[in-house]
Amino acid sequence: MTEKLIILGSGPAGYTAAIYAARSGLEPLLVEGVQPGGQLTITTDVDNYPGFPKGIQGPDLMIAMREQAERFGTRISSGNVIKVELKKRPFKLSTEDKSHECETLIVATGATARWIGLESEQKLRGKGVSACATCDGFFFKNRRVVVVGGGDTALEEALYLANFAGSVDMVHRRDEFRASKAMQERVKNNKKITVIWDSVVEDINDVSKNKVTSVVLKNVKDNKLKEHPCDGVFVAIGHEPNTVLFDGVLQRDEKGYLITRQGSTYTNIEGVFAAGDVADPVYRQAVTAAGSGCAAAIDAERWLQSKSLSP
Ligand code: NAP
Repeated sequence: MTEKLIILGSGPAGYTAAIYAARSGLEPLLVEGVQPGGQLTITTDVDNYPGFPKGIQGPDLMIAMREQAERFGTRISSGNVIKVELKKRPFKLSTEDKSHECETLIVATGATARWIGLESEQKLRGKGVSACATCDGFFFKNRRVVVVGGGDTALEEALYLANFAGSVDMVHRRDEFRASKAMQERVKNNKKITVIWDSVVEDINDVSKNKVTSVVLKNVKDNKLKEHPCDGVFVAIGHEPNTVLFDGVLQRDEKGYLITRQGSTYTNIEGVFAAGDVADPVYRQAVTAAGSGCAAAIDAERWLQSKSLSP
């Protein structure tokens, strides 16, 4: 069966595209990948999504979006898409055990946490090194943790960890944060959080003990190394768009984000649209992702109509 529309991804962009497409009668199939619900399922308080004056938990917001998409007839299939054939229509997508065909495709595969790139970091992942305070913070009750990064995510993780941990030391490579002023104020006022400026993590000890005992910090101004004892390391240094699948297929920028035609969600292939973080190196907010998901559904619907393929 050839679907009218397949949506890849189940974050705010994917679900919003599904709500709009389903309501316009496209009966979309949404394929959710390895992290159903996307990045918001690993956050806690979402205080800036309009409509929730008291805030909402990330996972609850995603469950609500999913229910709303299903209410209008979106079908949801699980599976990691490993191959796409977009040279001609119908487009073909394959997961490990299923194949799908569609006339239009919305790519809303989002972005994934970035790592520092140390061997010790990879060896100690799940053993004290994490990229998700919400998932693993609980294990660090009254312990000493280090958070790496200076953006909103890092400060959010530090504030969250300060609820459990004995102490939180933020390590940032510059002498000022990139995060919003509101977040910076909250960090400044939290007595459990200390900031170590102009420093990077050079190594994480101790792989031989299979647990985190300290980090080796390098001051980038004088290149001096210092061992800093801790029990956990939370890496929060940004994200990479999930576009490897489209390498050589869809146009990407130098950071790997999908390129869309200005003012639209059109990619370089007719009938393929992109929405959310996968095509957004600038805003990367849940609400902007949702907005572009809506735009992608409208673009897909109008495109199908122009080809006399809409219902
Ligand atoms: P980000 O804004 O790109 O910040 C990444 C941080 O990590 C920067 O401070 C950067 O340093 C640092 N960094 C990058 N690579 C590094 C490396 N190899 N070693 C050490 N440090 C490194 O990413 P983000 O914090 O994940 O935020 C992504 C987007 O989501 C942003 O637009 C943010 O506003 C948004 N967000 C919003 C909220 C909220 O509003 N509640 C929460 C989370 C995220 P430099 O500063 O020196 O570049």
